[in-house]
Order: sequence, then C-alpha cells, then structure tokens
Amino acid sequence: MSIPANIQSVKKRIEEAARRSGRDPGQITLLAVTKNQAVSAIREVIDAGIIDLGENRSQELLSKYKEIEDRVNWHFIGHLQRNKVKYIIPLVYLIQSVDSIPLAKEINGRAESLGKIQDILLEVNVSGETSKQGFTPGEVLKVVDDLAHLKNICVKGLMMMAPFVNDVELLRPYFAKLKELFDNLSDKEGSNLEMQYLSMGMTNDFEVAIEEGSNMVRVGTAIFNP
Ligand SMILES: *Cc1c(COP(=O)(O)O)cnc(C)c1O
Repeated sequence: MSIPANIQSVKKRIEEAARRSGRDPGQITLLAVTKNQAVSAIREVIDAGIIDLGENRSQELLSKYKEIEDRVNWHFIGHLQRNKVKYIIPLVYLIQSVDSIPLAKEINGRAESLGKIQDILLEVNVSGETSKQGFTPGEVLKVVDDLAHLKNICVKGLMMMAPFVNDVELLRPYFAKLKELFDNLSDKEGSNLEMQYLSMGMTNDFEVAIEEGSNMVRVGTAIFNP
C-alpha cells in the first residue's frame, strides 16, 4: 500500500485500540520512525499530516534535518553516545532514549550552554533482556531523584521497547508494568518532572500497548512497508 494509505490504516487501528480501552484516540500520538527512509518518503509522511518523526542515529538525524525544512518535531529514539549529544540538542524536540545518569547530565550541560530546557524520556528495560538498553524498573524512582537538581532537562515520561514475540498478548505484563511506573511518577512532585508521554508500542505490538495505556506509539514498518 502507499504511505498515505498505510498511515490511514495505522490511525484507524490506533482509534479502535483506544476505543476498546475506553480512551480518547486524540490523546495518542503517532510518531513515524523514519530511520533508513529516503527524504522523499518522509515528505509523504509529513504531507499526510504527521508532525512527529523519530530517528535512532545522530548522523542520520543531522543529515535529514538539513534536507527537511518543514516544521516537524524530531524525536531521538536510539542509543545515544555522550559525544554526540552536542550535535543533536539544537535539533531535537524529545530525547526518548535516556538510559544512563551520565548521559542525562551531559544533555543537561549541553542544553544549559544553549539556553534550552531539553525534554527527555527515561528508557526502561522492562523485560530485563541483556540486549536492551535502559534503567531497570526498580531503579527508576531513584534515578528521578538523582536527576532532580538538573535544571536544563525535564523528564516528560518513560519509553520502552518490548521483546519481539509472535504472540503479542504475552507483552501485556511488560506494558502494564511501565504504565504502573508512569502513574507512580505522575503523583510525584519535582521541578523537572512532568509526566506526559508513555512511549510504547511499535508496528508489531502498538494496539496491545495502547490497550495497556501507551499514549505515544513509534511506528516504522507499518507506515513505510517492510
Ligand atoms: C525502529 C524502531 C521503531 C519502529 O519499529 P517498527 O517495528 O518498524 O515499527 C520503534 N522504536 C525504536 C526505538 C526503533 O528503533
């Protein structure tokens, strides 16, 4: 199918999943993951009304940023090396993949020198797979406390990647776990803490993620085709 048709179909599935769980589909953000995609394909996505785009490599983000002049929100969603932070801070709306305290501190310092408050999400490794980045669920509250004094970052939520499985029903406990953490943090006070985004769900599992409370899904394959 064409990219616009794919987007219509993903949006419809988002709406249905939201309705099944008694939620307002308008509260769920569809982020198009544009990694490895040509600029012409990305333009089709923008023309279809998507304003949130996600990249997982800093070099690719920099080159696409130069070519795509439209007003879009760039999200960084991949493992970020500390020495790349300075290049992406001026460009990014949200860094979703903050997976260590030194990385958060580097982001804070670079944001400070640019006079920016950088919104971030904490990446959580809910499944405990060694191949995945992220804080353990058990350490997230302490991490939030450890970051509380940093004035040039704002913790806007949590992000996770689910394991790849054939039966996505098996993922419900992981998504539910992150939703529970998100709700706990939402009750917490902090000057650089404003829980807004619960980023979970990709092509394989976004409907289940929404049913379990996700309000931001990151979709690549279902939009751009395999
Ligand atoms: C590639 C990627 C996605 C999108 O994956 P699809 O299965 O193609 O939808 C989402 N999140 C992250 C962090 C990714 O790297």
